[in-house]
Amino acid sequence: MEKTLVILKPSCVQRSLIGEVVSRFEKKGLRLVGMKMVQLDDNVLNEHYAHLKDKPFFQEVKNSMQACPVIVLCWEGVDATQVVRSIVGFTCGRNAVAGTIRGDFSVSMQENIVHASDSVESAEKEIKRFFKEEEIFDYKLSVLSFLYSESEI
Ligand code: ADP
Repeated sequence: MEKTLVILKPSCVQRSLIGEVVSRFEKKGLRLVGMKMVQLDDNVLNEHYAHLKDKPFFQEVKNSMQACPVIVLCWEGVDATQVVRSIVGFTCGRNAVAGTIRGDFSVSMQENIVHASDSVESAEKEIKRFFKEEEIFDYKLSVLSFLYSESEI
């Protein structure tokens, strides 16, 4: 099944939203297969946000991501990347639809609570960037047959 990466940003940690945000992914039916707290450094952020390196706000985004430790999560499910992105919502909290994480908890373009992989290819790279192989777990989810039909999995 597909795996995808989520980062609970300093805006999530500082605003005491970790439980609330994790709960949304759990309740949807995704399987949590990796979770840890890390302090991000400049090297990993240069790699992670390489697509933003020429933007005027690049340094500000990096500072924001280093403001305190973050939580990195790996979720698994059918079409997990697309499912997670739709729960997260549009980048800018002011435009994000109510009911999404950013729509409900953010009023900012930068301080938007979570990062979520934007494609299956990015997810594969990002999981390797933030997790060692032994930090990703495989275990039986006993409710699996109540989450999907047999033909879906
Ligand atoms: P997303 O996180 O939705 O995939 P991007 O990859 O475009 O969005 O941007 C990465 C992160 O950089 C955003 O989540 C946001 O925190 C920050 N960001 C993007 N655009 C801006 C901007 N114009 N001003 C400030 N921060 C921005």
